[in-house]
Amino acid sequence: MHELSICQALVGQLQELAREQRAARIIRVVVQIGPLSGVEPELLRHAYPVASAGSPAADATLVLETLPVRVHCETCGADSAAAANRLLCGACGDYRTRLISGDELLLASVELETEATPGTLH
Ligand SMILES: [Zn+2]
Repeated sequence: MHELSICQALVGQLQELAREQRAARIIRVVVQIGPLSGVEPELLRHAYPVASAGSPAADATLVLETLPVRVHCETCGADSAAAANRLLCGACGDYRTRLISGDELLLASVELETEATPGTLH
């Protein structure tokens, strides 16, 4: 299962971060997912409790944000939003486009609880 291994990698990153920051636990995690990343947000959500069990990230609120798909047109030079299954230029309709964003899987922000004061890392 693809999403479980992604989640395990994510939890590994979170554990590392918790150790570096001497955090007791992780409160909130924001992950940004591009529609073309090949990751299903729903599957990721289901896999998270399994992957994070027993780690400082186990009780964290997982926030999944979907990123827009954007393309750069090789014909007219415009940058525009596009549908994930139809990467056409929004300005001239040409198909000769290059993907600018939409295939990312990013750990956008993490909120940690340390022994001293809760803090946010960006
Ligand atoms: Zn164009």
